[in-house]
Amino acid sequence: MQFTMRTAAVVLALAEIAGSPAAARDPDPRAIQAHMEFLADDLLQGREPGSPGYDVAALYVASQFRSIGLEPAGRDGTFFQPVPLRRSRLAPKGVTLGIEDGSGETFSMVGHVVAYPSAVRAVEELRGRAVFAGNGIVEARLGRDDYAGLDVRGKLVFVLGGPAAGIPAEVAAHLSRPGTQAARAAERGALGLIVINTPAAERRLSFNRLREITQLPRMTWVDAAVSPLPGGAPAATAFVDETAAAALFKRAPRSYAAALKEAATGGARGFDLGISVSFHRSSALDDVRSANVAALLPGSDPTLAREVVVVTTHLDHVGIGPAVDGDSIYNGAIDNASGVAATLEMARALAGDRPRRSVLFLAVTAEEKGLVGSDYFARAPTVPSERLVGAINLDGVMAFYDFRSVVGYGVESSTLRTPLEHAVRSMGLTLMPDPNPATSIFTQSDHYSMVRQGIPAVFLQIGEGLAPGGGSGLALSAAWDKAHLHKPSDDLKVAIDYAVFSRFTELYRRFVLEAANMPEAPRWIRGDFFGETFAPHAPKASPQVK
Ligand SMILES: [Zn+2]
Repeated sequence: MQFTMRTAAVVLALAEIAGSPAAARDPDPRAIQAHMEFLADDLLQGREPGSPGYDVAALYVASQFRSIGLEPAGRDGTFFQPVPLRRSRLAPKGVTLGIEDGSGETFSMVGHVVAYPSAVRAVEELRGRAVFAGNGIVEARLGRDDYAGLDVRGKLVFVLGGPAAGIPAEVAAHLSRPGTQAARAAERGALGLIVINTPAAERRLSFNRLREITQLPRMTWVDAAVSPLPGGAPAATAFVDETAAAALFKRAPRSYAAALKEAATGGARGFDLGISVSFHRSSALDDVRSANVAALLPGSDPTLAREVVVVTTHLDHVGIGPAVDGDSIYNGAIDNASGVAATLEMARALAGDRPRRSVLFLAVTAEEKGLVGSDYFARAPTVPSERLVGAINLDGVMAFYDFRSVVGYGVESSTLRTPLEHAVRSMGLTLMPDPNPATSIFTQSDHYSMVRQGIPAVFLQIGEGLAPGGGSGLALSAAWDKAHLHKPSDDLKVAIDYAVFSRFTELYRRFVLEAANMPEAPRWIRGDFFGETFAPHAPKASPQVK
């Protein structure tokens, strides 16, 4: 039988008439609003990691977890997992790139180069030959090696930024991530990586925006007991605009335009750029403490309770910044008080469901600094790592309109598709594909930290629906994103529909419950890029499994 919107409505109506427990534990819109009003208040000063505002938010979440009846799942019997953070800032005029082209003159790229501050060294001076390496991708399963025939030891590698052409969007998002590109360069002995902000990269993050972002303090975790290297800092990485790119290719065997054209048709060959470059970066470093907040709902099944489904959502935002219209507090109401509010209310509702597997609720710090808190948890979890079987993430609940579909980023990769489909159908909704693959959302929130440790994960978002004034709800969200994301105006004045918000939270509850009750732990689908890359030895599900 086709399960239609109408049958779902009838079933829900009957459940309400019967006064079933399902109706009684529905997420409460007022509770969600209350969490939002606390977490996005000006008093919390934008919840920047290391600030009192963040610590108050973390205490609030821990206190809510306690009142729900969840168990502490941080360190030393508390709800907190301290994350040792290294904060770094660029010194004024801290980044320079010079070209030495053999003419005896040094051409300075001031204004055309930006870099994040270093988490490792206060002063860096790198000088070496410049080599172009296409999109900087090395991936045997795709038969692709952009470094083929190149020797980059002791040199500076230039690569094209943005998702590479001819590769599925989510895979390209991973392979073309500056962090992944820098790791490939470092493995080959390169001194540093310089990413050219191509038009494709510009669509994802403009050079002007990059210039602003790199001026902000950056954080990485530093814990020698977990890893001798600071969390994810492989080779020194800088970004140049296309003006610089044209100059860098002046002595090269092929022009920048030709390389770009070649890349668009499935792969640019690398070559020596015929010049030397010098890169200088000065950063100021200090240490900061901030904590992830973790709580456990123990599973009800004596065997399956060993397995843990992790629910992640980031608690931090960017703090105080440049004033816009007289407001300098970046409250982060949608990004991501909303995800935390939904998770708290979902946890309260779920606690009465007695899921078979255990569920670990994790509100992380320093997401906005590059998924730092979640990466630390994923590498040094507070429960044995082999117990972590699946992850579900929320980041930005845009409850602006009545939605009829949801998006599950990563859903094609694992058997987590089944519980999500069940949950979606049970509410008369549909599952829609990634509406905008070019933005690489799959690599941009905390589930990705879990994916990198081999844990199947899904990032859940509201999909299409009818906007209040008519028209596409997703178009409304996209317009909101453009106007307010990471601005002081992402605050409590946002027009949130709390009835819609609680309906989304109910879907989220059903998804987590279904995932925690799956007969078999979530598995990667055989042949899936992420599963084969990050969990090569884990048992896989056949692609036919539904
Ligand atoms: Zn966010």
